[in-house]
Amino acid sequence: MTLSKTIAVAVSCIGLVPAALAAQHPHLSEQTKQYVVVDTTIVALRHVRVIDGTGAAPRDDQTIVLTHGVITAVGDAGMIAVPAGAQILDLAGRTVLPGLVMVHEHMFYPTGGVAIYNENAYSFPKLYLAGGATTIRTAGSMEPYADLNLKAMIDTGAVPGPKMDVTGPYIEGPGLGLYQVHPLTSPADATDMVRYWAEHGATSFKLYMDVSRAELGAAVAEAHRHGLKITGHLCSVTFREAAGLGIDNLEHGILVASDFVRDKKPDACPAPPAVVTSIAAIDIGGDSVSALIRDLVAKHVAMTSTLGVFETFVSRRPPIVAGALEAMTPEARVQYLQGRARVGDDTSSLWTTLLRKEMQFERAYAAAGGLVLSGSDPTGYGGVVPGYSNQREIELLVEAGFTPVEAIKISTLNGAQYLGRADHVGSIAVGKAADLLVVRGDPTARIRDIENAETVFKDGIGYDSQRLFQSARGAVGLH
Ligand SMILES: [Zn+2]
Repeated sequence: MTLSKTIAVAVSCIGLVPAALAAQHPHLSEQTKQYVVVDTTIVALRHVRVIDGTGAAPRDDQTIVLTHGVITAVGDAGMIAVPAGAQILDLAGRTVLPGLVMVHEHMFYPTGGVAIYNENAYSFPKLYLAGGATTIRTAGSMEPYADLNLKAMIDTGAVPGPKMDVTGPYIEGPGLGLYQVHPLTSPADATDMVRYWAEHGATSFKLYMDVSRAELGAAVAEAHRHGLKITGHLCSVTFREAAGLGIDNLEHGILVASDFVRDKKPDACPAPPAVVTSIAAIDIGGDSVSALIRDLVAKHVAMTSTLGVFETFVSRRPPIVAGALEAMTPEARVQYLQGRARVGDDTSSLWTTLLRKEMQFERAYAAAGGLVLSGSDPTGYGGVVPGYSNQREIELLVEAGFTPVEAIKISTLNGAQYLGRADHVGSIAVGKAADLLVVRGDPTARIRDIENAETVFKDGIGYDSQRLFQSARGAVGLH
């Protein structure tokens, strides 16, 4: 179901919004226009429930005014004057939240076979936008030029998609053996990689599981020299060591921390499953984890929750939503269903414990004052499909014990703060970009209502969520 247009009048209203605030109106291509349902200068969303992204309680019967792509008013319906000439959308029964800002996204999918990780540059940007993600950080790139080109195409309106913070190629030693990944040879090599990609448009970096402390330190220093942040999915280097070397963010949470593996050798990733068995055995509320949390929080290390991909390794979890299954190619669907069959029915498996511990850890991290971020990480064996996955991640944060407004803040304003873009995105406030997710129902009462996306606004342009989702049917895994 899409928004109904009550009044559509194009007017000129230069002067209402300072030029510096007005979003650049992109020249939308014919392809992009297929998904657009609102594209006028002034839009008023009336009678909506607002969850503003700050963690504040929801407010009923609000009006939000968007002018030239910027939020210019928000407040009680009776208090906000709708400007003359505005397109008025009567949205009773809907909730409006900030467009999602999620930071562990990828433009590639684990296709398996020869390609292994296949860039899905056609379907993924549409799926992210469909799911309400208006700003994403790609947490590691297999095809950095493709990601950079895609970002430019999205920004100019050639293709629909989210605002992208593009992470450079994985900074990783020779252990991974993936032909898409450059095997690091030295700390100087790490410096070179970061410098090259920072100079060619990457705005973020990611270290992977097999790097030395010296390589990690060199990459961190070079990223910071360019004023950019760097995260890691680590193994060879412990969380505490990485924090000491200045890393800004850690991906996936405690389940990948090698800090608790007995007799861990420096700069070496312990043979699996040593890391996860060490975490399964540890008390998340105990002294050693609490001390690690204190240390990381004191060093301002953000922690990214990726519960959605972990969930796919756990038995007897709810099945993937029908739309996500239909988005896959037949081959990807078979791969996913075989993977799910391998996970099996055994709820005494390690992963049942691990998911619960990770949820507990994320709550403890936030309670200790740490910045928790969220992302969906569409990897694993293919059971994580962008768009659907962003919504699922929020549901899992609620299952972890966060309130719905906390889970939404983690997935909006926290991400914006980390990316240094909280002045522009991440909450519903006057002066910020009109990036909004409109859903039927009330996610504070029933978190699954987050799946009822109707319209996603990016810079004031409204996209039909369902039309975007449908455009990707049968594509995921291929392109
Ligand atoms: Zn990832």
